[in-house]
Amino acid sequence: MSASAVDRRIRSLRPPKSHVDPYTAHGSLLEEERRPDGTIERALTVFLAGAECPFTCSFCDLWRWTIDGPTPPGALTRQLESVLQRQRQVSLGDAVSPLASLDDLVADRLKLYNASNFFDQRAVPPEDLPGIAKLAAPFAAVTVESHASTIGPTTLAFARQITGRLEVAVGLETIHPVAAAQLNKRLDLARFDTAARFLLDNGVDLRVFVLLGAPYVGADESVAWTVRTVEYAVERGASAVSIIPVRGGNGEMERLQALGEFTPPRLSQLEDALDGCLQFTTSVVTADLWDMERLAACEPCGSERIARLRRLNVTGRGEPRIAGAMCGGA
Ligand code: SF4
Repeated sequence: MSASAVDRRIRSLRPPKSHVDPYTAHGSLLEEERRPDGTIERALTVFLAGAECPFTCSFCDLWRWTIDGPTPPGALTRQLESVLQRQRQVSLGDAVSPLASLDDLVADRLKLYNASNFFDQRAVPPEDLPGIAKLAAPFAAVTVESHASTIGPTTLAFARQITGRLEVAVGLETIHPVAAAQLNKRLDLARFDTAARFLLDNGVDLRVFVLLGAPYVGADESVAWTVRTVEYAVERGASAVSIIPVRGGNGEMERLQALGEFTPPRLSQLEDALDGCLQFTTSVVTADLWDMERLAACEPCGSERIARLRRLNVTGRGEPRIAGAMCGGA
């Protein structure tokens, strides 16, 4: 995909990127997640280092976690192997026998997030897929992320290679017509719908990312458009929908903020959005709480409100809001 003038502008505004080692994963996270049938899974997310995504969405800051150039063959399997080995040691204690099997891992789902598109051959070399599938064998389910446009036969081939059930996480972002056209994501609703149908028709689960605070959506309409976009994903059969508050810091967001086209979302808006989505019971809707402290206006109510969102993510049951004594719940 050749870079457009918009791509070049977005890239030119980026701050410098730290060096990323293609043989070392950025980290991992073990957490509980609810599924649509109410069961609670233990999900291990591995944040892999690899090639940058070619799409250059205006709001994206995932490029920070990517390397320059394509992912070297063998790098992802090496990263995954060492994360799983470490996780196994944490799970069983450091005295674990080196002969212990990966089956001893205490997780049901493996989420492989490579800050790009799993089915882009530049990001995930095809020769690595069998090795990744083998390492994923102890897990009952595997989640990878992909732009709707890179979902196709390779997705189904990988679904057949793994032992567990595949889920693909796709960024729908927003269905606001003006905002969606400005994201530089090269995604229209018809393409999203085709990808969603393709996954479901082939027994692959769909997870969807939805933005809160998308640029070109007025701050006073932001929550309503997020809830509407979540509803759209739910109606297209998403098992899980994650609401992601847009972060500043990539240069383009600061440019848009200066033009009055982007307002960083507040914690209270995330609470409103998640509370407004608890009505959708066929999908699990959660709030992405990564780096959430930056949204909290004050302590200690910020921590309590984030803890409430964390509980809602797991239970899906409404709880009374926590009043912001000092910040007024901003
Ligand atoms: S498709 Fe995803 S990873 Fe690629 S630029 Fe857009 S948001 Fe970032």
